[in-house]
Amino acid sequence: MFEGMANDNEVPQELKQNVLMTSVDFLYNWSRQNSMWPMLFGLACCAIEMICTAAGRYDLARFGMEVMRPSPRQCDLMIVSGTVTKKMAPIIVRLYNQMPEPRYVLSMGACATGGGPFKEGYNVVSGIDKYVPVDVYVPGCPPTPEALLYGILKLHEKVRSQSVRTVPWYRQETPRGIVVPELGPDIFSPDRAADIRRLTSRPQAQEA
Ligand code: SF4
Repeated sequence: MFEGMANDNEVPQELKQNVLMTSVDFLYNWSRQNSMWPMLFGLACCAIEMICTAAGRYDLARFGMEVMRPSPRQCDLMIVSGTVTKKMAPIIVRLYNQMPEPRYVLSMGACATGGGPFKEGYNVVSGIDKYVPVDVYVPGCPPTPEALLYGILKLHEKVRSQSVRTVPWYRQETPRGIVVPELGPDIFSPDRAADIRRLTSRPQAQEA
């Protein structure tokens, strides 16, 4: 019997082989966590490890994730794998806005999380979480495929903890679009800084 299902004692003996009892939340989350399609794109060396993770040895198909989609319209998960340059940041935000809800972001590696060895460089942003909300951070330079898999399992934990009654994507009052930063000397217009900060702050970010 799956975790989260009702106790055996609540099902009459004659129905035990024919009836499964569970909650809507369990079924909804179990389906989502086992069919999470990542977006097919990489930014730098971390992407090589992401590609390894999808290949036969580590086998993302075990988690229902082998279908990497080239279109953001068909993705549930954005894996930001590599160095985020100032030129690329607005494009990442635009891709994020094009993903349907529910959508998640995994920051893979030191560069995506904080700028890595290029931190404070003239052309690199110091963390993608300044532009889109990040759900899981995977440390490393680069993280190993095992580390990425661990981060994905942490994301599954987060998915399992959500409830259809409280998730933000079913609440009309919650703004879900992110302001696209404008490329320039400071990457975004200063008059939009407060909006970007407000929309990218999420209380439940986890570290892998
Ligand atoms: S964290 Fe390291 S391996 Fe990953 S993109 Fe940056 S420099 Fe490359």
